[in-house]
Amino acid sequence: MNLRSLLTNHSCNVCGKILLGIAYQDWSGNRVCKEHNKCFCSSCGRYYGAKATEIVSGEWLCENCKNNLPDKAGVEKTVSYIRTFYKQHGLEVQSHVVLKGVTAAQMARLYSSDVRGYVELPPSSDGYHIIVRRYLARAVLAMVLSHELLHVWQYEHHIYPPAAICEGFCNLGSYLIMQSIHTPTAMGQIELLNGDTDPIYGEGFRTMRTMYEQNGLPAVIAYMKSFR
Ligand SMILES: [Zn+2]
Ligand SMILES: [Zn+2]
Ligand SMILES: [Zn+2]
Repeated sequence: MNLRSLLTNHSCNVCGKILLGIAYQDWSGNRVCKEHNKCFCSSCGRYYGAKATEIVSGEWLCENCKNNLPDKAGVEKTVSYIRTFYKQHGLEVQSHVVLKGVTAAQMARLYSSDVRGYVELPPSSDGYHIIVRRYLARAVLAMVLSHELLHVWQYEHHIYPPAAICEGFCNLGSYLIMQSIHTPTAMGQIELLNGDTDPIYGEGFRTMRTMYEQNGLPAVIAYMKSFR
């Protein structure tokens, strides 16, 4: 290892200052100084690095996410990828879905700063409205939409399980979609899911994933249908 790479490996991802003593690390292995431990990419959750872009007030994107923002056609492709994957796995979503993009600030006002998407229920006459954060990289958008589409699927089938099973099942869908996309950003989303300590979203996910690993997806689907 030469001196240059030694310094690169041990400097703050945001300000470039050499890290001595305490350093903070994200899921991708990037490290920052104490001062920059809040500098997360608003899309993927990495530290956003020195080449970050403030895409809209308060929302910073890492270079990777900035370069992977889908255009309208890319969004449509992402939706159809998820729908096709689900259909092939016995989770066909029948309804028309309308996406509405909002900023993080708008999402906080509309619903919560903790979520990146939600489905408006009951559906409107023109289908299910999914409100989703704008400025998400393609894989992160897929993470959010694959979760929300399984809420639609549950609603279509009149399935009303306890919250941890409902959300855990949606997160299992995201997990399967991320496994199938398998880019570093997608695998990072799984890392974040694995580290989620929330009793509903995190524990619920681990319960459903265990069921999936032990019994397979058809058994999970049958279990979900028992909540009709
Ligand atoms: Zn720093
Ligand atoms: Zn990012
Ligand atoms: Zn949910």
